[in-house]
Amino acid sequence: MEETYITPTHIKDYAFCPTILYHKYVRGVIEPKTPLMEEGRLQYLKDAKGSRERTTLLNSRRIKVEKMLFSYKLTSNKHKIHGIADTIYWTSNKMHILEIKYSNLRKPVPGHIYQTAAYALMAEETFKQPTYKIIIYYKPAKKWIEKRYTNQLRAYTIKIIQKTREILEEEEIPEIKWRHQCRSCWYRKFCWP
Ligand code: SF4
Repeated sequence: MEETYITPTHIKDYAFCPTILYHKYVRGVIEPKTPLMEEGRLQYLKDAKGSRERTTLLNSRRIKVEKMLFSYKLTSNKHKIHGIADTIYWTSNKMHILEIKYSNLRKPVPGHIYQTAAYALMAEETFKQPTYKIIIYYKPAKKWIEKRYTNQLRAYTIKIIQKTREILEEEEIPEIKWRHQCRSCWYRKFCWP
């Protein structure tokens, strides 16, 4: 089978739960949008219009930015993945990947970490330099979370990309396991009828 390109959104879903990825993209069962999801989408569209807000955010954190790219298309031909990174910036010649989130969280969930880590992987291939840090900024809580892009995080991200692809290409049907996120998951009726 010809390999298709996957996106960091697929990876985010896999990290939340492999079964949700299967429901959404293999079975084609899509959760209707809730008012909260719609609000986040509208906020994203509003913010997506300008890089000025990112510059203000970085200035407010006293980060001396040498170069910044906003809403930047990235591709990794090596890992067959593509997507649009929110913000990439360089400080002290080191590359940083910043992802803005609109959920009211104070701690990063695995899905957001690996989604941002996937952008970091693509940026490394595009700019031919290592990513120094990934950053997730939860806008409602004004929470800034930084993580070093270690070899371990890079290797695990690659593993997740492979696992995600296996499900999307129907080489693997994920086993349904009870997880704490099942309690509030809209797909619960399909997994636990
Ligand atoms: S109900 Fe649980 S197992 Fe099913 S998709 Fe949701 S989180 Fe995954």
